[in-house]
Amino acid sequence: MESLNDLLQQAEVAHGHLCAGQILGVRMALMACCALGVKEPRGADRKRLVCFVEIDRCATDAIGLVTGCRLGRRALKFRDWGKMAATFVDLASGRAVRVVALESSRELAKARFPHVEPAAAQQKAAYRTLSDEELFSAQWVQVEMSPEEMPGFKGGRVQCAVCGEGVNFGRFEMQANADGTERPLCRSCARPELRYWKPID
Ligand SMILES: [Zn+2]
Ligand SMILES: [Zn+2]
Repeated sequence: MESLNDLLQQAEVAHGHLCAGQILGVRMALMACCALGVKEPRGADRKRLVCFVEIDRCATDAIGLVTGCRLGRRALKFRDWGKMAATFVDLASGRAVRVVALESSRELAKARFPHVEPAAAQQKAAYRTLSDEELFSAQWVQVEMSPEEMPGFKGGRVQCAVCGEGVNFGRFEMQANADGTERPLCRSCARPELRYWKPID
């Protein structure tokens, strides 16, 4: 595993700045890789990890950097829960660990580095030096990885019966017709209430 300092340098370049979130994300990912025995997530152990991230903030970029898990490879899964937490799944062993940043770490940062100002610098100093146990709670968990959830899943594309757009990875729903047959609908047509966009006419 590369050192914290090396990874932080790479995270800074990739993310554009070195913020407290980068340090937290790098440390979360390091801790998880260590727990799972994944030594070279971007080298010999490539393709072993899938990460479920629960927030789309600075730390998310750092987690992607350390683990090599990217959205475009389907190895980075985003669950929009607004939590500084992520679950790291080792596909080789089937084991998974969920790591959460502790709320108490902010107070601890103040207590340990009272002389460091401003708060952002204080947090950075703390996140570099506090122990894993002081920063995070970690839990072994089970993650069901269905075939269509896997990075390399190859599935046919289905055309939505309403909008005609192609749908990959089984992300459609079957809707019953009046005559008892069924037709596939994309999520946008099946559940318009969940649609994030509206047409402008
Ligand atoms: Zn940032
Ligand atoms: Zn549709």
